[in-house]
Amino acid sequence: MTRYSYLSHLECARCGHVHDATVAQGLCRRCASPLLARYDLDALKREVPRSSLRDRSWELWRYHELLPSSAASNEVKLGEVVTPLLKMARHGADLGLQELWIKDESATPTSTFKARGAAVGVSRAAELGWTQIAMPTNGNAGAAWAAYAARAGLRALIAMPEDAPRITRAECLTAGAEVHLVDGVISDAGAMIADAVSRGDWVDVATLKEPYRIEGKKTMGLEIVEQLGWTLPDVVVYPTGGGVGLIGIHKAIEELLALGWVEGQMPRFVAVQSSGCAPIVSAFEQGRPDSTFWEDSRTVAFGINVPKALGDFIMLDILYKTGGIAVDVNDDALLEELRILGRHEGLFVCPEGAAAVAATRRLAERGWISPTDRVVVLNTGAGIKYPECVDADLPVLAPGTSIPDSAVHASPTP
Ligand SMILES: *Cc1c(COP(=O)(O)O)cnc(C)c1O
Ligand SMILES: [Zn+2]
Repeated sequence: MTRYSYLSHLECARCGHVHDATVAQGLCRRCASPLLARYDLDALKREVPRSSLRDRSWELWRYHELLPSSAASNEVKLGEVVTPLLKMARHGADLGLQELWIKDESATPTSTFKARGAAVGVSRAAELGWTQIAMPTNGNAGAAWAAYAARAGLRALIAMPEDAPRITRAECLTAGAEVHLVDGVISDAGAMIADAVSRGDWVDVATLKEPYRIEGKKTMGLEIVEQLGWTLPDVVVYPTGGGVGLIGIHKAIEELLALGWVEGQMPRFVAVQSSGCAPIVSAFEQGRPDSTFWEDSRTVAFGINVPKALGDFIMLDILYKTGGIAVDVNDDALLEELRILGRHEGLFVCPEGAAAVAATRRLAERGWISPTDRVVVLNTGAGIKYPECVDADLPVLAPGTSIPDSAVHASPTP
């Protein structure tokens, strides 16, 4: 008899202590580190062939054996489509790469990949009986968790920096969340939430403080491998804040390798940060196992403005053991990449995604990525959530004015 989910237990990412997965859990009770969901992969391998996925609908929950929900009826859904994995021939040629792919997360509910973590995290929270969830956010996670909380009938309390993208504030309010703004960064919002949680009835679902957000983000990795015809890329490039996506994609590939659903070598992982907030890059360059708090962080790529990540040691371990690297790019470079990519491919990527593509360009120039490497870059969200990233001021012509002669004759493609 096959099971809907093969979730077996939770394991501390630092000390390995095992926790019961059938009840709600936060951080490790021994060492306060993040917990990782573990599955009975031996049984899954015996009981479910990869081919059983063939007839399932093309959505996130097609991988339910490797997700924590115990029944389909407990899944909270807003339309989690499998997002496109697009080959970028023109932009790849510009970077000198023959196989440059982009996993475009703009088609997710709430228009960023944060929807994946929220879909699975909220589904599991509701299933285990949580009714009130609280979190700090740079905007996108709050928007996603507020939406899924509303859909599941849960209450949401959210704190975010005052200068987080305004649209995300509107999204949280539209979903009926209780929203508070802070004149500071996400760590300040996190302190406010932790305090509120200690004084009241809320459960803290901040990044990695509960185990199932990673599982949602893991589906990016499952999808990439399936979309590549059950083969692995050579390099995965990821814009890194809290690191959940990077940890999740790596975990997905580890599980697929253990199941024998894919064979080959684990890809090299690249953590991309903004020069205005690069604690992981700094730790990596010093060969350290964890990061130190980044003071006065600032970047247009708001989703990766995380001065100190709870899962820094997990990310750094992945970079070291896969032969990966951490690199930073400044805001001018990522905004320039955003514009070039738009012209080459018709994609309006988010600044975080643009940072990942700009880092790929630098690594290709340095020879760290070779021309024949198969590279998958994550565009973690829709650029249209960040309209201020493109200068759209133009002169306005009076009705009856002619379009200038210079523009009347089409020029060859840029
Ligand atoms: C949150 C966010 C990131 C960083 O994701 P982590 O998994 O926390 O590293 C990247 N891009 C966007 C658009 C985000 O909202
Ligand atoms: Zn522990």
